[in-house]
Amino acid sequence: MVTVPVLMYHRVDPIVIDRNTVSVERFALQLDYLSRKGYTTLTLAQLYEGLSGSRQLPSRSVVLTFDDGYADIMTYALPLLQRYNMKASVFVVTDMAGQKCSWLKDHESNQLMTWEQMEEWLEAGMEIGSHTLTHPRLNRLSDENIQYELVASKEILETRLKTKVEVICYPYGDIDERVIRFAREAGYKAGLAIFDNVSLWNQNLFAISRLGISSRLPMWEFKLKVSKLSPYFIGMRILERKCKRFLRRL
Ligand SMILES: [Zn+2]
Repeated sequence: MVTVPVLMYHRVDPIVIDRNTVSVERFALQLDYLSRKGYTTLTLAQLYEGLSGSRQLPSRSVVLTFDDGYADIMTYALPLLQRYNMKASVFVVTDMAGQKCSWLKDHESNQLMTWEQMEEWLEAGMEIGSHTLTHPRLNRLSDENIQYELVASKEILETRLKTKVEVICYPYGDIDERVIRFAREAGYKAGLAIFDNVSLWNQNLFAISRLGISSRLPMWEFKLKVSKLSPYFIGMRILERKCKRFLRRL
């Protein structure tokens, strides 16, 4: 089975307001490390080809993803990605383009990318995927609403940005069999989750696990997360969650 570390970022900003904000300095150090070690940053299309077996991936491959589409990645992450000649993908919430993120505590830097910024991001050779229309917990919605979130967000992005949108990133990583079935039916080729309901043993292209990169992640741990040991981190988190659920039931 091919395993490629897929890293999950949210914000890159000089001001670290929460655990999902990686400082510009730290982000630069991480990219510098990947560059020095000869990592290839894959596009989502390359990841899909590698995982589905139609392309041989370089042994040191990594995928950089940004959830939610915060505007600060245009200011701070994009120039660094370009400096290191790297690729990344951002997953945007279609109905909230250009607005402030509504699902977090209000903060001035919770501004989401505008349509113009998404165009700029694509022109810079980066990719865009769907993070639904409104950022709901998909597995808690009715069948009809799941379908709407998946289908409409894809169509709006494809029409407005004139690009193919083939990967869905599930908000909060919440998935179940229904969500996966509807994602497939909506025409996506793959889905990015986090830890819940992903399997370490069988690669499910609609439940690809990701490794969160938090604000305080030490460099040694970053190095391990992008190494061949990356599946162990995912395994540990799956186990941790299962234990917590079990203890809660006692
Ligand atoms: Zn999100």
